[in-house]
Amino acid sequence: MNCKICGSTAVSHKFNLTEKLGIYSCVECNVEFMDPQLSDAEITELYSEQYYKSWGISGESENESSKQMKIATFLLRLETIKNYITKGKVLDIGCATGFFLEAAQSSGFEPYGIELSEYSSSIAKKKFGNDSVFNGKLEDCRFADGMFNVISMFDLIEHVRVPRETLAHAGKLLDKNGIIIITTPDCKSTSNKRMGKKWTHYKKEHFYYFDLESLKYIARQCNMNIIYHESSKKALNIDYLHTQLNVYKHWFMTPVINILRFVLPKSLTRKNFHIGIGEITVVMKKN
Ligand SMILES: [Zn+2]
Repeated sequence: MNCKICGSTAVSHKFNLTEKLGIYSCVECNVEFMDPQLSDAEITELYSEQYYKSWGISGESENESSKQMKIATFLLRLETIKNYITKGKVLDIGCATGFFLEAAQSSGFEPYGIELSEYSSSIAKKKFGNDSVFNGKLEDCRFADGMFNVISMFDLIEHVRVPRETLAHAGKLLDKNGIIIITTPDCKSTSNKRMGKKWTHYKKEHFYYFDLESLKYIARQCNMNIIYHESSKKALNIDYLHTQLNVYKHWFMTPVINILRFVLPKSLTRKNFHIGIGEITVVMKKN
């Protein structure tokens, strides 16, 4: 088997996620990848409304504590962005229902989004307007080349079939002085080393597990260059963990969180704290 990122044959089988889905690791570029990938039909089923229940989004109503927490996380990303760009047009690829764009808009940026899911893009369209949100694939969007000052891809690049193509496309839409910011699970993080194949980011819908080296590799392929990286922090609260852990059940954490949520006052279960959860954030610029 060849590495799906760099083409090297120095690839080893790490473990099997399910009976069918193998996780492989590349010695050359450090990426880990899934083979085979889920089919389009299997993905559609996985990304249906059911999937969003794990985010605390059900129907049209957005769970308030989940929303506050996601916006708190995105405010952290905006701090990173503002070190480089402080105004202009922001495109969020994989914008879901538009939490990041809400935070960007409140910081003075002009919000635009692309979202594959008709369900969540319809919610984003109501917030930002039909012309600002595109429902479909990145390569089919009607936004002009060089139009954006900031392009964000949060928890996206691990889901796409060919990351290099996604990044190259984003590069075309980016202004020559603009930045791309990416957050994705880091296969060389301490949480990965500690948890092994029980690492929470190993999921059927995650086809790739990058690290700084493999992100540098795809940036170079797209004539870009990583100018900043950090281990990502997320804002979390107990209410959110409670929702997540009752969809993705864990033998130990689920009962612990259920008890905490029951005994603690609401003011504490909704309080955000910052925690590293095994992801990396990188900022790229065009060469
Ligand atoms: Zn490789």
